[in-house]
Amino acid sequence: MKLHQQRTCMGCRITTSKNELIRWVVQPGQPQLQVRLDATGQAHGRGAWTHPVPKCVQQAVHRKGFARAFRAQVDASAVLQDFEAYEDRTAPDRRTGRDKESGSEI
Ligand SMILES: [Zn+2]
Repeated sequence: MKLHQQRTCMGCRITTSKNELIRWVVQPGQPQLQVRLDATGQAHGRGAWTHPVPKCVQQAVHRKGFARAFRAQVDASAVLQDFEAYEDRTAPDRRTGRDKESGSEI
């Protein structure tokens, strides 16, 4: 049996299977590296992880978790924007109020 890969959420600091988390990477930018969501989970290089919930993403930004994770000065200004776009793609039901019961927790 294969162990799940464990990662720590930068927001709440809970360690969990990386399937439960979303991955962030840095891309070249001026004047600093830009933190962007790695929607595919396949991007090269060092990654940082958070739960796919606003609270954890905001905490990660607030605590400068990205700078720590990437060991660099980073520009996290696109993080919340990327996350909102991600939420729009993955959870359209929540916004439109469509009544589709998936049985999953919020
Ligand atoms: Zn978290």
